[in-house]
Amino acid sequence: MTQLILQQQIERLLTVVEKPSRYIGGETNETVKPDATVRVALSYPDAYEIGISNQALQILYGLINDRTEAAAERVYCPWPDMADAMRLQQVPLFTLETWRPVRDVDLFGITLQAELTYSNVLELIDLAGIPIRSEDRTDRDPIVLAGGPSASNPMPLAHFIDAFFMGEAEEGLSSIIEILDTVKGREERLDRLAELPFLYIPARGERPVERAVFANFSIDMAPTKPVVPYASAIFSRASVEVMRGCTRGCRFCHAGTWYRPVRERPVEDVVKAGLEQLNCTGYDELSLTSLATSDWSGVARAVTEIKAAKPELHLSLPSNRVDTGPVALAVAANSRQRSITLAPEAATQRMRDIICKTITDEMIEKAIKSAFAAGYTSLKLYFMIGLPMETFAEVQGIVDLGFKAREIGRRQFGEGGKFTVHVSASNFVPKPHTPFQWDGMAAPEQLRVKQEYLRRTLKGRQLKLSLHDVRTSMLEGAIGRGDAITGDVLEAAWRAGARFDAWTEHHREDAWQAAFTAAGRDLEVEATRERDPLDPLPWDHVRSGVTKEFLLDEWWQSRAERPTGDCRWDGCSDCGACVGPVRNRLVEA
Ligand code: SF4
Repeated sequence: MTQLILQQQIERLLTVVEKPSRYIGGETNETVKPDATVRVALSYPDAYEIGISNQALQILYGLINDRTEAAAERVYCPWPDMADAMRLQQVPLFTLETWRPVRDVDLFGITLQAELTYSNVLELIDLAGIPIRSEDRTDRDPIVLAGGPSASNPMPLAHFIDAFFMGEAEEGLSSIIEILDTVKGREERLDRLAELPFLYIPARGERPVERAVFANFSIDMAPTKPVVPYASAIFSRASVEVMRGCTRGCRFCHAGTWYRPVRERPVEDVVKAGLEQLNCTGYDELSLTSLATSDWSGVARAVTEIKAAKPELHLSLPSNRVDTGPVALAVAANSRQRSITLAPEAATQRMRDIICKTITDEMIEKAIKSAFAAGYTSLKLYFMIGLPMETFAEVQGIVDLGFKAREIGRRQFGEGGKFTVHVSASNFVPKPHTPFQWDGMAAPEQLRVKQEYLRRTLKGRQLKLSLHDVRTSMLEGAIGRGDAITGDVLEAAWRAGARFDAWTEHHREDAWQAAFTAAGRDLEVEATRERDPLDPLPWDHVRSGVTKEFLLDEWWQSRAERPTGDCRWDGCSDCGACVGPVRNRLVEA
């Protein structure tokens, strides 16, 4: 098919599908480099409006396009109406920038941010016309590479991905591009890529793979020219990553181990990058992002300096800890904002000690009071249910805290005051490389009983409750700690129609249940099964930097209901993440 015919076919498809703007490209700050010798297609395996908002992919897009020899283009997962039409008309998956077939690139890079996008990974590969299994690919096919946090357990996708990038890609990317530029032939390229310590190439066997850490995070400038979506996106704002890593040590949190140690950006660089981004994009909102922005040493000074330069700017500080300091900061950042989120994660002191969330009841209450006193009229409180060692007292604690927050709100705004306490309770899903990696999920019937209790009790004026779908949480748990057989299940489910699993309207429970059964497994057993610390884990060959001994010790500390201090302030707890120049780097407040 010639390029002209392909373009005409795409144009015809765009007249019949929902939201054609998802596929046309041409946004502000898009880059097109016809003369590049290494061509890369970067993909987020979900709809355009989700994928375009992903900061990691924007960073990689900029880094690749900054190199003279390489060009990065983008592709997101076509919505089912578009995918069906493409198959019917035999239109292959194409990039947004040039509408060229993805199969023609050298590297097809897919970011893995969540297990519920895995069926879309297969959908993307298939729509591109690339054989689903790596073993069936030839020189005609690109190298299919996956990275991102969920790659830390590569095994469920090991049949389908040629190479997994472990860790932070900023520095290691250069070596990959250089190999693709100088080495031709699929097998030869894989041989050379297998020499890189941070790449896992399933076809070259299970050897130890080291997580790459971007040691220069604190020194290198943040990207300043993100692509600006003109179709609706979940985030339409400039954003600067102010800090990478978090050492608070929450025992359920994958990012809390995977991105250690903490590296902070200097205030001057953040302010400069933020203002430049605003100029290059036209956004009127800037977000200072990280795993816990209120922990960044420079946050107060940065807020003051940015607001001095742009007083009308909507400045947001996501991922705040529960404390009065962050509430005051949020007010300083954006006095017009009326909603705030606090994440106690657990409502009782006992459970917060188990999960290592070092905040007290008093701190939570004070933060709620300060939020309402500052004029916030929408307060979101975020919790988890189904955590290890949970009793019904923890669920009752969520109800009590919800009502207490309402009472505080009523004291501030009056009995019939216009404010909302929004309680959100998600289901705990154990993740690889965390102290809770050996724990099982709560049984689905237990989760449903607890959800029903929350629904029946936590209701009334000024209260809202949101809960997560138990079926999709169980699927996330069953895939996340899966192995190569889980990959067979994934392929069978996708062939039976599973895609866009995170979208309730598309989730195909029947396809997944049948696929697990056909593989001789049970979805719920896989999700709820505890792992024996003495047994090998499917991801043992992936070295996160944090040692298994540390994780196991943290698991024991959780059983003793004892939190561990944050090494930034309470001394090193010897997790193993700091090696050579890689260590906690804090900036002046
Ligand atoms: S090695 Fe020590 S200082 Fe470094 S991240 Fe781990 S606990 Fe913190």
